[in-house]
Amino acid sequence: MQISEKQIELVNNRIQALVKAESFYGKKLAEAGITEIHSAEDFKKLPFSEKKDLREAYPLGLMTAPEEEIVRIHSSSGTTGLPVIIPYTQKDVDDWAIMFSRCYETAGITNRDRIQITPGYGLWTAGIGFQNGAEKLGAMVIPMGPGNTDKQLQMMQDMESTVICATSSYALLLAEEIEKRGIRNRIKLRKGVIGSERWSQKMRERISTELGIELYDIYGLTEIYGPGIAINCEYNEGMHYWDDFLYIEVIDPVTGENVPDGEQGEIVITTLVKEGAPLIRYRTHDLSRIIPGKCKCGRCYPRLDVIQGRTDDMMKFRGVNVFPNQIEEVLASFPEISSEYQVRISHIEGKDVMRIYVESDSKTNCNDLSKRIADKFKSRIGFTPGVKVVEIGVLPRSTKKTARVIDERYQ
Ligand code: ZN
Repeated sequence: MQISEKQIELVNNRIQALVKAESFYGKKLAEAGITEIHSAEDFKKLPFSEKKDLREAYPLGLMTAPEEEIVRIHSSSGTTGLPVIIPYTQKDVDDWAIMFSRCYETAGITNRDRIQITPGYGLWTAGIGFQNGAEKLGAMVIPMGPGNTDKQLQMMQDMESTVICATSSYALLLAEEIEKRGIRNRIKLRKGVIGSERWSQKMRERISTELGIELYDIYGLTEIYGPGIAINCEYNEGMHYWDDFLYIEVIDPVTGENVPDGEQGEIVITTLVKEGAPLIRYRTHDLSRIIPGKCKCGRCYPRLDVIQGRTDDMMKFRGVNVFPNQIEEVLASFPEISSEYQVRISHIEGKDVMRIYVESDSKTNCNDLSKRIADKFKSRIGFTPGVKVVEIGVLPRSTKKTARVIDERYQ
């Protein structure tokens, strides 16, 4: 998706603010000798921003607006080392609420809905983001925060909540409790807005069927406002994102080059109007793709596919970027094999070799199945692995996707 003239103008405004504030990015620009951009080609020359840059700016090095305009900070839960602190101006808080209420509207939620919010409140952006967006929409908020399932279910019945906002795992837990307690006929939920962790189609169907509700994936990250920057519509073919606030690119995570629309890669986000901590070309390390063409719903906002994983999971094989979820997708199309698999990549006689072990019961014609799976890999991903079918129960069980891939090339 090429950057528009209007978006370029907004980026130039942000560049000026960053240079003036002497932030890390202002310095990067000065080093690159860039003071302004004029075209889509110029934009691609702008340096990336990384999580590391944000961490090094701790505590308030990202602050780009004058301190008297900063009304709030949020912080991402740093898994390693220092957290990232993001300052917000009142305009940033308002813009975020506008985007979030647009998400609710896209999900068919209105000011007649009663929205029960279970993500946490505090330093991180979850609960308060869901709340501000709902208030902007004019809906009634039931600000529960996480945990205390008894109270959640009590309020859900007494307040007649129609929308639940939750992580996928908490939504599943609530669904199971409702089923267990036999109170489904006292629950008025009609929709669920589910936060951005990656979840399987199976889990989605379970939550949706058990609660009898429609589910919507909402995307976002603390560095870029928080949740609320993209959501799927009723057609559920990717998530619409708000290109008047954000410019989104997808790049090859290894080379940093833009990939064509439709191709998978790393999501890179530029904030177009953020004041407190604008970010230019921020590498999210989330994997997805831009879905080309217009959505059936008629909305003009472009679409991102649901998040497919993290760039850290990617493998480079014979010059092709391969993601574990692509392997899973191919294997999932063969009902005769179990959900377990193992991938071994080795370097034999100067050549990269991939072997995939799958499980099937003894009645299957193994040679035929191996060949069909290998052919599907060739047509879908572009190379032919060796496929070996073993008996069910032979492969080690693991809940982590990455543990199923053993790369022997660099050992
Ligand atoms: Zn749509």
